Amino acid sequence: MTRKFLVGGNFKMTGSRAAIGEIVGRLAKADLDPNVEVVIAPTSLYIFQALEILQNASNKQIQIAAQNVYHEKPGAHTGEISVEQLKQDGINWTLLGHSERRQAGESDELVARKTKAALDGGLKVILCIGESADERRDGKTEEVNARQLQAVIDAGVKDWSNIVIAYEPIWAIGAKALRAATPEEAQGTHAEIRKWLASAGLEGNAAEDTRILYGGSVNAANSKSLASQPDIDGFLVGGASLKPEFIDIINCTR
Ligand code: PGA
Repeated sequence: MTRKFLVGGNFKMTGSRAAIGEIVGRLAKADLDPNVEVVIAPTSLYIFQALEILQNASNKQIQIAAQNVYHEKPGAHTGEISVEQLKQDGINWTLLGHSERRQAGESDELVARKTKAALDGGLKVILCIGESADERRDGKTEEVNARQLQAVIDAGVKDWSNIVIAYEPIWAIGAKALRAATPEEAQGTHAEIRKWLASAGLEGNAAEDTRILYGGSVNAANSKSLASQPDIDGFLVGGASLKPEFIDIINCTR
C-alpha cells in the first residue's frame, strides 16, 4: 500500500475569529495538490466556523481535527469535549498526545485512553510522540517513542489503521526550538518507529501502512528535503500553518 502524504496544521491556541476565518478562507481557495490529505486543527472555539467555511468551499479536500478530546462519555466534565460531540457535527479527526499537553500533565496512559476512546467512537487520531532534548542527548529517543506508543497498545488498540503517528521531537517544536530535525535525523527515527511497529504484534500490515508525520519547525524552505525521505509521510505544522507558506508545504511533493 502506498501511504498518502498528509499535512496537518496545528493552530494551537492562536488566532481570533477574524484571523482564523481569514486563514481557513485562504486555504479553502488555494490550489492544493489533490494527492495530499490536509487536516487543520483550530482551537475548539473556532472549529465550527472553520467547518462552515470549508463546507461552503468548492474544494472539499481539507478536513478538520480537534486538538484534544476527552475519553469519557458526555456528561459532567466541565471544560472537556467528547468524541460524540465532535463526531455528530462532522469532525472526524483529533490530535492527541501533543507534547504541550503531555508537559501540561497528560500521562502516556491518559493519552492512550483518549486514543482508544476516540478510535472506538469513530474518530481518526494524529498521535503525537517524541523525546526532549535531554532524552535525545542521553540516547533515549527510541525508548521514549516506544513507551508512548506501547501505552496505546496496552490500552487495547491493536488496529492502527485509523492512527497517524506524528513524530515531534520537543527540541524542534515552536518558537523555543533549537532547530528543525535534519532530514537524516527524522528519517532515522521514523525508520526506528516503523521497525517498532513491525515488532508490536498489531493487526494487518501496520508497519508498512501507518503514516508517520514529522513535526517541529517545518517550513516552506525545509519541507521538500524532509519529504524526500522514504519514511516521512507528511508533516504536522505549527507556526507555519498560520502563514501563506502552509500552501507551499502542502504542495511540496508536487
Ligand atoms: P512548529 O510546531 O511547526 O511551530 O514547530 C509543530 C507542533 O507543535 O505541532
